[in-house]
Amino acid sequence: MNITLKPTPEIILTGDRATGPLHLGHYVGSLKQRVFLQSQHEQTILVADMQGLTDNAHNPAKVSSNILNVVADYLAVGINTEQTTICLQSQLPALAELTMYYSNLVSIARLERNPTVKAEIQSKGFERAIPAGFLTYPISQAADITAFNATLIPVGDDQLPMLEQTNEIVRKINHLANKKVLNECRPLLSNAPRLPSTDGKNKMSKTMGNTINLGASEKEISAAVKAMYTDPNHLRVQDPGQVEGNIVFTYLDAFHSDKDYVEQLKSQYRRGGLGDGTTKKILEECLQSLLGPIRNKRAEYLNDKAQLMAILKQGSQAAKEKTEKTLFDVKAVFGLNIL
Ligand code: ATP
Ligand code: MG
Repeated sequence: MNITLKPTPEIILTGDRATGPLHLGHYVGSLKQRVFLQSQHEQTILVADMQGLTDNAHNPAKVSSNILNVVADYLAVGINTEQTTICLQSQLPALAELTMYYSNLVSIARLERNPTVKAEIQSKGFERAIPAGFLTYPISQAADITAFNATLIPVGDDQLPMLEQTNEIVRKINHLANKKVLNECRPLLSNAPRLPSTDGKNKMSKTMGNTINLGASEKEISAAVKAMYTDPNHLRVQDPGQVEGNIVFTYLDAFHSDKDYVEQLKSQYRRGGLGDGTTKKILEECLQSLLGPIRNKRAEYLNDKAQLMAILKQGSQAAKEKTEKTLFDVKAVFGLNIL
């Protein structure tokens, strides 16, 4: 991992929608960086249950039943609660209040221009039936980020438009106040900022149901790798093959620790003489050894739900104070702390 940071500690805020267990996309896109950064920076992770409801209000159990799964995923990959605060979005009313204030600073046209939201609206087939909460979720994300006054956000590239919208709101608040009230934030992208699904057609995402979860069984991992899209024109082992767009190589780039070895495999594949069976076997070994220990730890954490609840409760209490301080500062900009 190649991360260049300022010498002073950053304030880090990330979150995940509680819409399903976390997957390999989360791992390479964001979780790995969070684990790396937590010892030296002030880090908060938000389980975004309210945001999960913006497209799941007809099936709220999908969100509520996944809250603890997400916490178990964090702990299983190495998030340490001594170093990172894990909190629950719906326990922090200041976030909803900030969302209301910020809503007055953002036009519908601006919301409709957000390319990630635009693509999501299309793939969900919302058209005019789009829930208002869904169209405005970038505003609630701006509330999440600014409530902690975060400076650095380790995310996948689908989140870049959200950070841009956040910074627009920050500049408007600071301009209104005629001083710096809120920090602007910047993204931290990994070298796999948009992990594709195994068929290569879409981003791996919970909603698409195309995931390899962090808790996947050995059999599920094996089946997913076997079904992976490669080069359809690479019919015989001796044929030259294409690496670009070949998902096995995309995953080897994202997950294999020996980059030189992966480059050697690519050269051999391009020349001919390396079969898909072999590259898939190498990838499967790599994923099995990554996910085996995570799966076991995850199951252990999920065996003690009371402990997971206590972690969320404690984290949410700690986060509450910070978010209320920001709410106070933002209300002051509007002249509303009069009582
Ligand atoms: P949903 O389908 O419910 O939106 P999701 O799978 O897209 O779920 P999120 O909770 O929306 O996951 O994303 C949480 C974080 O993980 C974000 O920072 C996002 O950029 C990152 N992330 C999600 N999927 C990927 C992926 N395939 N590759 C890289 N990063 C990802
Ligand atoms: Mg998403």
